Amino acid sequence: MSRLLFLLAVVVVVYLLLRSFRKQAPKQDVPATSEDMVRCARCGVHLPKSESLLAGGNFYCSEAHRREHEAK
Ligand SMILES: [Zn+2]
Repeated sequence: MSRLLFLLAVVVVVYLLLRSFRKQAPKQDVPATSEDMVRCARCGVHLPKSESLLAGGNFYCSEAHRREHEAK
């Protein structure tokens, strides 16, 4: 009988864990979609910060634009 109670407790714990995981999942998606957007100093296109190049305090959408802007 105590074994059955133990099993029941395990099931309840697993269920609660899964439920809290599912609750957290959408929250973890939010930072990815609302990631900081930066503007390319050369062409002005907006792109996620993680995909941009940072050089001399300016953000760029590509290595080519970084070089073009710094060549000026
Ligand atoms: Zn650009």
